[in-house]
Amino acid sequence: MSHHRTAIVTGAARGIGAAVARRLARDGLAVALLDLRADDCAPVVDEIVAAGGSAISVSADVADEQAVASAVATVADRLGSPTVLVNNAGILRDDLLFRMDVADWDAVMGVHLRGAFLLSRAVQSFMVGERWGRIVSLSSISALGNRGQVNYSAAKAGLQGLTRTLAIELGPFGVTANAIAPGFIATDMTAATADRLGLSVDDFHASIAAQTPVRRVGQPEDVAAVAAFLVSDDASFVSGQTIYVAGGPAGTIL
Ligand code: NAP
Repeated sequence: MSHHRTAIVTGAARGIGAAVARRLARDGLAVALLDLRADDCAPVVDEIVAAGGSAISVSADVADEQAVASAVATVADRLGSPTVLVNNAGILRDDLLFRMDVADWDAVMGVHLRGAFLLSRAVQSFMVGERWGRIVSLSSISALGNRGQVNYSAAKAGLQGLTRTLAIELGPFGVTANAIAPGFIATDMTAATADRLGLSVDDFHASIAAQTPVRRVGQPEDVAAVAAFLVSDDASFVSGQTIYVAGGPAGTIL
């Protein structure tokens, strides 16, 4: 890393976000872990700092315009200009179309799409000012369509469009934007899916692994490794892409 860089990782208290935060800190970035409650990020922040890294936690609901503005200002103040953004915060509100209510649609759109828009808009001036920036957003194989996820699949497909447009608008300023579309990654989110399907986590993992070409489920670190590449200087000519991190070609689904 040529000089000091600051990253914001949303939804960083656990799961994929926590793994991305740990990995970017290990790669030498100062990392702001953003989540609904800053306290929830404290264990990961402490771990990073104990390992010699630089990290803080900030609270914000990514769908709240004012909260996002003030969180980004806090990060700039305490860690320096945020020139890396990982839009990772996410929720599931799965149901079949005929049962899905408007609140479940709006909640998912709010966190994934409005959240990524608000964070990207809030950090772009720092990136453009530095003539360098990296935006990575978490899409999903569900973007290709998945039963019971009309809200989530639309949001995750939407993030791919947002990513392509960010790449076009911000590219002239040295800013790249890419999306990562994971397959099945073992986290609390997928444990909740196992529960919804009435399966134990072990049985659920075994059945997913059997349908996955590399014969295992993904781990948060698998996603963090790709994020680390996309935010590196090595990836400066990769922009507007969606990289599927799914243990095989995208198209096989939960
Ligand atoms: P997770 O374990 O559920 O963690 C998500 C984190 O986001 C939680 O800490 C959560 O906070 C936080 N969050 C939720 N709403 C928020 C909001 N409005 N503002 C700020 N933070 C918020 O999820 P994960 O499995 O790590 O998934 C991370 C991302 O990858 C998501 O975008 C997800 O859609 C995507 N993804 C996951 C998989 C997978 O298989 N796990 C596959 C494809 C894509 P609380 O704990 O307070 O709710």
